[in-house]
Amino acid sequence: ALTAGIVGLPNVGKSTLFNAITKAGAEAANYPFATIDPNVGMVEVPDWRLQRLTELVHPKKTVPTTFEFTDIAGIVKGASKGEGLGNQFLSHIRQVDAICHVVRCFDDDNITHVEGRVDPLEDIDTINLELVLADLESINKRYTRVAKVAKTKDKDAVAELAVLDKIKPVLEEGQSARSIEFSDDEQKIVKSLFLLTTKPVLYVANVSEDDVANADDNHYVQEVRNFAATENAEVIVVCARAEEEIAELDDEDKAEFLEALGIEESGLDQLIRAAYDLLGLATYFTAGEQEVRAWTFRKGIKAPQAAGIIHTDFERGFIRAETVSFEDLNKYGNMHAAKEAGRVRLEGKDYVVQDGDVMLFRFNV
Ligand code: GDP
Repeated sequence: ALTAGIVGLPNVGKSTLFNAITKAGAEAANYPFATIDPNVGMVEVPDWRLQRLTELVHPKKTVPTTFEFTDIAGIVKGASKGEGLGNQFLSHIRQVDAICHVVRCFDDDNITHVEGRVDPLEDIDTINLELVLADLESINKRYTRVAKVAKTKDKDAVAELAVLDKIKPVLEEGQSARSIEFSDDEQKIVKSLFLLTTKPVLYVANVSEDDVANADDNHYVQEVRNFAATENAEVIVVCARAEEEIAELDDEDKAEFLEALGIEESGLDQLIRAAYDLLGLATYFTAGEQEVRAWTFRKGIKAPQAAGIIHTDFERGFIRAETVSFEDLNKYGNMHAAKEAGRVRLEGKDYVVQDGDVMLFRFNV
């Protein structure tokens, strides 16, 4: 499964946020084969459409889809030149598919900041610089070898060298490679380089309870937003401490707590959806009388692969998929009415599955 790694300097609230994630954790009963890695927190993806489908279909059981966060430990500063824990930090980042970068946006004299001051932009810089340096090292290593082969006019090497030449000066300026625009062909080469600074990122501004409702009045949050805009990255505001408490509440108490905080949706729920989106993930549904269920797929896949997420037999024997959009099913109220209105499609093996599709797979066994 794709996973988003939680990173940040010490004392910014990472563990607090990760605790909230594990407490909010998906019901283990529904996912008996889930990983038990203590650094992985599995959460259910909040989706109002699943509740709505449950109301429409009255199934015996409703199963949300899940998403995994990974807590990235290790020492950040000096990681790119360090041994041991520093290297561990980088190798953990290498294994995740996206980065949730937590920054401290709350003042609290009782909680020491590692650098003795609260300055989210400096914090972002500190971590990004380690990643940039690590990437620069891998690029430089590769550069000499590829340049040599490119001299023989080898086509692949020439193409790769052009990409390396594009990335190298940006890294040397201390900037992340994600700020560079690549063509589709270049993108393939970039992928093969396994860089850290091309991983998609979002920033998590950790604010105090008093600030969540009016986060934009907090000047730290403003600074983070301005910086994130330069990377086309999203910013999610959370109060990690409050999320830790919210995670233990039932739905009713949760709604009350959120109202008291002055927000409509918990920061954690926003973070889950934003991370899901950042990874290019979307949801389709199955809606039978036994079970209404949400399934995660990578945007762009076709119907047989989507069927394969449920069971490999469904993919192998795929015939077609009876498909209706959630909007149509919601509008017409049930499958029968949606069919009468001509809104149920029979999709074949080349159909590109869309977010919100409600699907019934027909297959040979
Ligand atoms: P980590 O080192 O990044 O994992 O940080 P922790 O999650 O351990 O948090 C460091 C300290 O900051 C702990 O004492 C937390 O209780 C505290 N903390 C976390 N979030 C908040 C917050 O929103 N407001 C305040 N005042 N303290 C917080």
